[in-house]
Amino acid sequence: MQFYSTNNPSYKVNFEQAVFKSLPPDNGLFYPQILPRLDPDWIKNLNHLSKTEIGLMIASKFIGDEIPMPRLAQIVSETIDFDIPLVKITDHISSLELYHGPTWAFKDVGARFLSRCMAYFIEQSNREVTILVATSGDTGGAVAAGFYNLPGIRVKILYPKGKVSDIQQRQLTTWGGNVSAYEVAGTFDDCQYLVKQAFLDQELSQELNLSSANSINIARLIPQSFYYFYAMQQVDSNDQVFCVPSGNYGNLTAGLWAWAMGLPIKKFIAATNQNKVVPDYLTTGIYASKPSIQTYANAMDVGSPSNFVRMLELFKYHHSDMTKRLSGYYVGDDAILSTIKDCYEQFGYLLDPHGAIGYAALSTLLAPGEHGIFLETAHPVKFLDVVNQALGGAVDFQEKSKPLADKKETYQSIGIDFVEFKQVLKG
Ligand SMILES: *Cc1c(COP(=O)(O)O)cnc(C)c1O
Repeated sequence: MQFYSTNNPSYKVNFEQAVFKSLPPDNGLFYPQILPRLDPDWIKNLNHLSKTEIGLMIASKFIGDEIPMPRLAQIVSETIDFDIPLVKITDHISSLELYHGPTWAFKDVGARFLSRCMAYFIEQSNREVTILVATSGDTGGAVAAGFYNLPGIRVKILYPKGKVSDIQQRQLTTWGGNVSAYEVAGTFDDCQYLVKQAFLDQELSQELNLSSANSINIARLIPQSFYYFYAMQQVDSNDQVFCVPSGNYGNLTAGLWAWAMGLPIKKFIAATNQNKVVPDYLTTGIYASKPSIQTYANAMDVGSPSNFVRMLELFKYHHSDMTKRLSGYYVGDDAILSTIKDCYEQFGYLLDPHGAIGYAALSTLLAPGEHGIFLETAHPVKFLDVVNQALGGAVDFQEKSKPLADKKETYQSIGIDFVEFKQVLKG
């Protein structure tokens, strides 16, 4: 399969190039030349297929023979090497728990797939690469876990000092081996700036063979479509509405792709926090990116969502086609807290702040006869402060967080000056 740039359809690359470039040089996004259609009989038969069989079918449609089948099967099976259960909360609403991977958030899925695809290509060519990422929390941990111990790959992660949660920080700093963490005396934007400068610096970029693992990489999106199929395996009617708590809209794009590939999903809800540019677009037809606002669901504090262009591409820029399939909803901070509390008290189910947005959206928008599935994108332990605030400290997470709390942290503290950073990277 070839992937073209959304800014220039005649610029095309193969899967391997799309993976290592991450972004086309014209700042568009890579988009598959055609979204594969899956055989309707195969889809009817989903219940009889294993998670690996499903993932392999989808992945092979995108990747073709660039990775041999047996190896791709291994990559898929390692990617989803943990439970992805659909848990019923009420008669009408279920939670698709995507947080049973190593760093307790859905980003593990994309990071594991991307890292293993890269490792395959690197093996074939005998080169070494350095993955450089800036993280505001979940991405860095998933990338570190995904790439940990893979041969030929070094990982360098920048995070803003004091601005990630304790658990998130530990998921960045306790690996060792091929993973190095850098605590930056600045904001997430400063971290992103340093990373961007590094990529722009020809000398550095070539010397270290820099590569990115950011969330717009095509190899992170593809496996995120798998779990919509896994959810549909676990339900018996086709009246399913998927509600996707969204920041950069990668998860939602992957879900829309699953539908476009033939999975019979009735509708989608784009649910978010006060950073509501996409819900606003869906109601008004006007898209206006904005500076991001800080909220309790901070993994979705995005004012200019990068995958929105891919959503437009899918619906060929027709607003009315998009709104036939997709509606928007946003939830303020107070409602995040009250939703976590109400859901826990009424049903004994503990939501994280992002999942709470998904649950709240379904509670309001679901029509009679429909069943709603929201993506529970992270384990509540990752957002302990918010959950404690909502519940008045009613839940004890010691058992889950203890093993991590006992590990030794290693990181290097750096400033926000690029020249200095360059020296650090060159070692
Ligand atoms: C990254 C993240 C999101 C947002 O996902 P997108 O694909 O960027 O929309 C939501 N919840 C959690 C916990 C995340 O880490």
